[in-house]
Amino acid sequence: MLGGMQDWPLLVWKLIDFAALNHGSREIVSLTCEGGEHRSNWAEVHRRSKGVAQALSRLGLKQGDRAATLAWNTHRHIECWYGISGMGAVAHTVNPRLFEDQIVYIINHAGDRVLFLDLTFVGLIEKLAPRLNSVEHFVLMTDAAHMPTNASVDFLCYEELVAQADGDFAWARVEETTPAGLCYTSGTTGNPKGVLYTHRSNVLHTLGSITKDAMGVGSEDVALPVVPMYHANAWGLPYSCAAVGAKMVMGGPHFDAPTLHKLLMKEGVTFTAAVPTIWLGMLQHLEETGTDLGALKRVVIGGSAAPRSMIVDFKEKYGVEVIHAWGMTEMSPLGTVGSLSAEAAKLSQEEQFDLKTKQGRAIFGVELKVTDDAGTTLPRDGESFGHLMVRGPWCVGEYFGGEGGHILDAEGWFDTGDVATIDQGGYMQITDRAKDVIKSGGEWISSIELENEAIGAAGVAEAAVIGMPHPKWDERPLLVIVPKAGATPRKEDVLAHLEGRIAKWWMPDDVVFVDEIPHTATGKIQKTTLREQFADYSFPAVDG
Ligand code: ADP
Repeated sequence: MLGGMQDWPLLVWKLIDFAALNHGSREIVSLTCEGGEHRSNWAEVHRRSKGVAQALSRLGLKQGDRAATLAWNTHRHIECWYGISGMGAVAHTVNPRLFEDQIVYIINHAGDRVLFLDLTFVGLIEKLAPRLNSVEHFVLMTDAAHMPTNASVDFLCYEELVAQADGDFAWARVEETTPAGLCYTSGTTGNPKGVLYTHRSNVLHTLGSITKDAMGVGSEDVALPVVPMYHANAWGLPYSCAAVGAKMVMGGPHFDAPTLHKLLMKEGVTFTAAVPTIWLGMLQHLEETGTDLGALKRVVIGGSAAPRSMIVDFKEKYGVEVIHAWGMTEMSPLGTVGSLSAEAAKLSQEEQFDLKTKQGRAIFGVELKVTDDAGTTLPRDGESFGHLMVRGPWCVGEYFGGEGGHILDAEGWFDTGDVATIDQGGYMQITDRAKDVIKSGGEWISSIELENEAIGAAGVAEAAVIGMPHPKWDERPLLVIVPKAGATPRKEDVLAHLEGRIAKWWMPDDVVFVDEIPHTATGKIQKTTLREQFADYSFPAVDG
């Protein structure tokens, strides 16, 4: 027997239709690649995304075809997202910070027929175009005045394409299980793998992420996603802001603290999201300039662990609430959010800070468990750590093109590759990536926890911990530190700071100071490269 309710497919374009109709005048402000700022709103972005859809249809793009974007966060990029998926094709976000060979691999593997690119990437695409086998049209996201005159690629002009469209275009009425988006993981080992989102998974993820205990974004918010749209969908914000009619502020090609800070103050940003490295830069900028964060109320921090000292600084110095979140490209990306439960709200401020360093609780739509190597579920006691497994309607079922074969176990669980604990209250804490955990004498040491504590020591700008070979213990932790500008922290002081904050046997065997720590294309510490850099290193004194 069927139920009696309407069949209303969960399609991504319904989000922008809703925003245009109900919050049409709510602004979308972008810094642009041409320089300067552009002011638009949801009604305008809706109209122009229909223009993109119509233009693509005229170029011969068909349902299920892929169209890629190589672009920063701008109003045009949002228009492309809705335009591409709205005409039934797949919006493939390409991360421009990947190596050139990876960009070529990804675009060819996806079989992208159209590539939208920002002005920043003209030179890159002129170089790579001969190797991009499937791309038939390169659309430069700019106006006629900024089109290059003697480029080796025959670029189409975005603004002309949109202007030529009369907007008389009906969105594709496809099945909700039709693909809408594609994003590749950064593939620190092996080739990147594509995650093919459906309209349904994106809409459900949106509904899950706007709830109060999750991102909690509303129509009064002014949201600045610093996290790029090519990094795990800017954590879904171009969808969730449409779903609630929030104003959006987009930084374009800018990620530096002074520019972001100016934008944040000028537009009255209340909500923002970024990886910890961005916030390290921002907090330093605030300290140097003696400024504050204006109307900002909440920052979502994810992608890597948010150090406790960062959570404390935001709250105590600037009155801003940090919401620690965890997720991954394979999860659209939101998995857990560190908002306070009713019990947690009763804790002291210090206890709340401790809790907020955990990555948070599952939101409805995400199931979590931790298992040992044999696959047995471990207790939710906040101590037992094991493989973090996930399940849910916005979690990956298989990679694009079937790469990597079957990736779910018999009960549909996906192994995240993270090692974590879950406590009685449901708060999950990542202790490591499975491949980064330090195995000392048969026990595991969490590199993330050591890094989080080390960063609180005086004069430390950034910290990374890697396991180095040790004759007795197999591996021991080596702490690598980037000092703050002008500071010269000493090994003894850093280790003294760690004392009492970590288990005695976790104490790093050595501390080394470097000018820079390598990062991945999504702002995470690149442990593989760091380990290579220290390949010839050995600990100063082995205690036998
Ligand atoms: P990429 O590997 O391309 O950067 P993801 O953003 O999908 O892409 O990476 C997901 C991984 O990032 C997670 O599996 C986890 O290891 C790490 N991660 C994400 N959020 C956090 C967090 N808040 N704390 C610690 N690690 C995190």
